[in-house]
Amino acid sequence: MIEGIVDGQAFDVIIVGGGPSGSSCATFLGKAGKDVLLLDKAKFPRDKICGDGISGKSVKILAELGTLPAMSKSEHIEMYGVTFSSPKGRVVKIDSKGKSGERPPGFVARREVFDNVIFQNAKKYARTLEGFQVIDLLWQGDQVIGVTGLETSTRKKYSFKAKVVVGADGAASVIASKVKLDEIDEAHQIVAIRCYYKGVKNLNDTIELHFINELLPGYFWIFPLANGMANVGSGMITTDLKKKKVNLQEATMRAIKENPLFKARFEGAEQVTPFKSWSLPVGSKHKKAHGNGFILVGDAASLIDPFTGEGIGNALVSGKIAAEYIIKAFEQNDFTAKTLKEYEDALWREVGNELKTSYKLQKIGQHKFLLNLVIDKAAKSKAVQEAISNSLLNPQERSAFSNPLFYIKALLS
Ligand SMILES: Cc1cc2nc3c(=O)[nH]c(=O)nc-3n(C[C@H](O)[C@H](O)[C@H](O)COP(=O)(O)OP(=O)(O)OC[C@H]3O[C@@H](n4cnc5c(N)ncnc54)[C@H](O)[C@@H]3O)c2cc1C
Repeated sequence: MIEGIVDGQAFDVIIVGGGPSGSSCATFLGKAGKDVLLLDKAKFPRDKICGDGISGKSVKILAELGTLPAMSKSEHIEMYGVTFSSPKGRVVKIDSKGKSGERPPGFVARREVFDNVIFQNAKKYARTLEGFQVIDLLWQGDQVIGVTGLETSTRKKYSFKAKVVVGADGAASVIASKVKLDEIDEAHQIVAIRCYYKGVKNLNDTIELHFINELLPGYFWIFPLANGMANVGSGMITTDLKKKKVNLQEATMRAIKENPLFKARFEGAEQVTPFKSWSLPVGSKHKKAHGNGFILVGDAASLIDPFTGEGIGNALVSGKIAAEYIIKAFEQNDFTAKTLKEYEDALWREVGNELKTSYKLQKIGQHKFLLNLVIDKAAKSKAVQEAISNSLLNPQERSAFSNPLFYIKALLS
């Protein structure tokens, strides 16, 4: 027996992974009275390789989860916009102060802190088991009916049953692999590296995205954190990385040491953690996310924004929508793929257009000329700054930038 749970015990829903997608799903299901077991192989607080940028979309769900008060007491900074730079070195700061009412438009918080806030909140609504690694699914015919895993400290094996298993176990999802939905398409995957720095100069309350020659067609980021720290990293689509034979760490260090935009800012700064690499499954391709007795959410369902690399928002949103449709499945007492497909349909109604637009923007962002053009225009025009700011706060408004007319107008203006 572990922490009051016995081998073979049955729950309404088992959620594998206590990151943003799993904790969001567990909280919404628990609030609706479902008996939920939330499992994670790690013990919280735990780190997750990430840029640590938490967008407006996430802030909205955090409010629904009831975690904003805890968030505001935890280590974070409020984020008010984005600073961009173009391949030719033009820098533009797009400020979003005062646009979203009483809440800040976003946060930057280390995932060790942020994920712990939402996981601890989920504990109020679900039974949780940390240090438990799921290794396989239980099946009855072609229906998933539970999971098998190991208590990591003892390597003792346990099985638990549920009507629905939610795969919220991230980019290397065991659940996706066990249901054979883990095929990787490298044209729809970003590889990224991240480390923490202390003492980078001239940080402000915006996140910085730099489209610099060293890392094109990818990007370099500097996200300011509390206590004078900064999250520094870079990313590129896997196929581009392989085609161009880019070594992300070398290219990033070259930018830090030699690029005139960063050289002085990093002088005397200290790299406090090594670079770590992880993949981002992006939502430029619709991946199946349901089947008999299971649902995939967050990175396990490949929902990261292909333009910004932002995945926490869609992880939280997919957790919420999954909870809604799992509750409907209970009302119908039907946990087959036919009913659970409604989750995936609703999810793609919500995020599909936005992901399509971001995919177009990702393609546009691969053209140096267009990047120089838009960032030049933004530097000069309040209207373009406003449009970019709105599109960042509200991804549904991004479509203007994926329209060729925008670039023709920008060229002529
Ligand atoms: C370098 C990098 C930078 C990024 N920057 C940003 C950013 O700035 N902003 C943003 O919004 N997004 C960013 N993302 C994307 C973001 O990190 C993910 O989209 C987000 O974490 C997805 O949440 P999730 O809950 O689906 O998965 P995760 O956060 O990965 O959580 C999965 C959980 O499952 C657990 N788990 C895994 N396997 C098992 C198992 N077998 N058994 C039990 N538990 C298991 C893990 O321990 C983990 O706690 C970035 C990603 C990377 C790699």
